[in-house]
Amino acid sequence: MSRTVSIDPILLSKVSKPARYVGGEWNSVVKSHDDVKLTVAYCFPDVYEVAMSHLGLRILYALLNERDDVAAERVYAPWPDMEEVMRQKGYPLFSLETKTPVADFDMVGFTLQYEMSFTNILNMLDLAGIPLFSKDRGEDMPLVAAGGPCAYNAEPLADYVDVFFLGESEESTQLTADTIIAWKEQGKPGGKKGLLKQLAQQQGNYVPAFYDAQYDEQGNFLGLVPTEAEAKEHIEKCVVADMEHAFFPTKPLVPNIDIVHNRAVLELFRGCSRGCRFCQAGMLYRPVREKSPQRLVQLAKEIVANSGYDEISLMSLSSADYSCLPELVDMLLDEFKDQKVSVSLPSLRVDSFSVDIAKKVQQVRKSGLTFAPEAGTQRLRDVINKGVTEENLLKACENAFQNGWSTVKLYFMMGLPTETDEDLAGIADLAYKVLNLYRTVTKKNNGRVTVSVSSFVPKSHTAFQWFGQLPVEEIQRKQAYLKSLIRDKHISYHYHDAKTGYLEATFARGDRRMGQVLYEAWKLGCKFDGWTELFDYDKWMEAFAKAGVDPDYFAARQRDVNEPLPWDHLSNGASKAFLQREWQKAVGGELTHDCRHLSCTGCGVCPNLGVEIIDRKEGAGRGKTAFSC
Ligand code: SF4
Repeated sequence: MSRTVSIDPILLSKVSKPARYVGGEWNSVVKSHDDVKLTVAYCFPDVYEVAMSHLGLRILYALLNERDDVAAERVYAPWPDMEEVMRQKGYPLFSLETKTPVADFDMVGFTLQYEMSFTNILNMLDLAGIPLFSKDRGEDMPLVAAGGPCAYNAEPLADYVDVFFLGESEESTQLTADTIIAWKEQGKPGGKKGLLKQLAQQQGNYVPAFYDAQYDEQGNFLGLVPTEAEAKEHIEKCVVADMEHAFFPTKPLVPNIDIVHNRAVLELFRGCSRGCRFCQAGMLYRPVREKSPQRLVQLAKEIVANSGYDEISLMSLSSADYSCLPELVDMLLDEFKDQKVSVSLPSLRVDSFSVDIAKKVQQVRKSGLTFAPEAGTQRLRDVINKGVTEENLLKACENAFQNGWSTVKLYFMMGLPTETDEDLAGIADLAYKVLNLYRTVTKKNNGRVTVSVSSFVPKSHTAFQWFGQLPVEEIQRKQAYLKSLIRDKHISYHYHDAKTGYLEATFARGDRRMGQVLYEAWKLGCKFDGWTELFDYDKWMEAFAKAGVDPDYFAARQRDVNEPLPWDHLSNGASKAFLQREWQKAVGGELTHDCRHLSCTGCGVCPNLGVEIIDRKEGAGRGKTAFSC
């Protein structure tokens, strides 16, 4: 008989947003643990409103719950007020569906979306009563797993996680569930280590305890050495070759309170082949694989019928790149014209085509248009391989202003490789050009331009993985310089905290030694580090000092292209030689074309993983699979 946690409603009424902790959402799945062979707690290390908006977790939750022999439940990070209540009263972390203590599940899986949520993972394990370090966890404790983009540099979490899953898990999750169920039914041969040995042999699985990290006398990372026969030298990601028939949940969870993205979601395709050199997602999710518009409309009909949502968001890394977008939008608008269901596009390309689509769906107009030129000058846009020109941007804005938009948001990055103050001045110039264009086109003075600038963070598996993060003081100087150039009250300027970006870089390029820093920071009370109001940089610096780790070594150091990297054994299919070529081309300001529309640019993902680009519109050729809408 499984245990459950019963929280006193009076106590719950004293915390902010109690609905975060009660479950019972429409389409949530409640199963008795006594009726299944495997129980999985999917944990998202952030607050309910962020966690509920995440598509990946929703897919895996629904996928496993389709099976009669598995119960998958959700666990989100309690906000500090709820944590305080739980610690005071001795409530362990529990699942939303059956209020089962997390420690009672067979497997506890974390999704790793953002380095700044790592302390929440430790905090959630602790609240669950699960020993933080995998070496301290007994046979009675759940298997602790993790996946998601940050798993591609798993080393900072290597001491805490039993097994990492690399890549897209729709197919491998089923295999993992089968393996665990069979292991249980056979009487758990070899104990947890026996299970990990089996899992380590499956594609995409990385068991960090099966490797020793080696360093030279100066403390430089030399590489990982497998210590078990089952541990592979290189772990390749899992990839779903056929997105058309891949599982997609048509009974989405509908929250009881408002969440970050509270609408139905249609995933148009996976991957992005534009090749922006800073973008980790662009590299990790290659190649582009589209769904057909017919399949998408079918999914949309089922989702709307099962959820009651009146808005469908067309989601992907760059939704405006979907090759059949105009046809799809027409089909959706036609399908739902009597039901008042709207269609929204969260990301737009910097071109007039995007504005035409936005005009069609109209809803975007309410919130203004967003474009991401990323850099202020053509020189720097070429370095990052952004592939858009000032002319593209101004044409798109002109089109938008002629069609009634008066608000444009422009996204940029600061601290990119080779950036100078001239490039920053280019950001201000661009903002003024857009504003003046509005005044010229509309003869009005009520236009608004928002300039939003984040700090560039070098990420693993990108062409910029060798580049050092700029010091916090230098980013702050650049932020102040750009601020001094923006003096029109119709232009607003927002920038991200330089200290958060710096810390993110220490983890993004960290090795196993970052694990101790993480532990010290958590002991000092760090959590929800992605939340400005809770982020405490000084505590983090104290944690680095206590762990005896120099943050600059990981974040700021320019790395040699030939030095061993802590994530060399974790592969998304792309070759290091390709990234090195891209790094050289970046420094020379040389562009690399989009492999989806022209020839293959040789990243290696397709041949290495046996997959192909699937484009629903382009003509056949170049070895890619193409369909006509
Ligand atoms: S292997 Fe070639 S076609 Fe495939 S994603 Fe890489 S560059 Fe594009």
